[in-house]
Amino acid sequence: MDCLFCKIVAGEVPSNKLYEDDDLLAFYDIDPQAPVHFLVIPKAHIPSPAQIDAQNCEVVGKAFCLIAKLAQELHLENGYRVVTNCGADGGQTVGHLHFHVLAKRNLAWPPG
Ligand code: AMP
Ligand code: ZN
Repeated sequence: MDCLFCKIVAGEVPSNKLYEDDDLLAFYDIDPQAPVHFLVIPKAHIPSPAQIDAQNCEVVGKAFCLIAKLAQELHLENGYRVVTNCGADGGQTVGHLHFHVLAKRNLAWPPG
């Protein structure tokens, strides 16, 4: 399948890995938008948040558990933002579900 993040999961494209288990991979974003910016992805190919369903949603909870754990390890006690872009209007550019975690700067709200 021609999916960049599936290739990262398979090790065909290199990444700066932060965490890996059977279900999830976390790696630093190649174009960071904050001093800390990493992505958490399910290893299984789910194209976008719009394809989360009763069959595949368990990994979403696991992703948020992992985000809380990594945030603690990275000392993000001042806060962070978790972002999931969905589709063209949502600004999604890679068609494999991913959660951005951004931290270590003051993040504007609402987003532009
Ligand atoms: P989105 O625009 O929400 O789909 O996010 C895709 C993210 O993937 C962007 O923040 C990109 O900078 C990031 N990205 C694209 N290619 C790579 C890569 N090879 N390694 C790490 N992050 C990447
Ligand atoms: Zn994929």
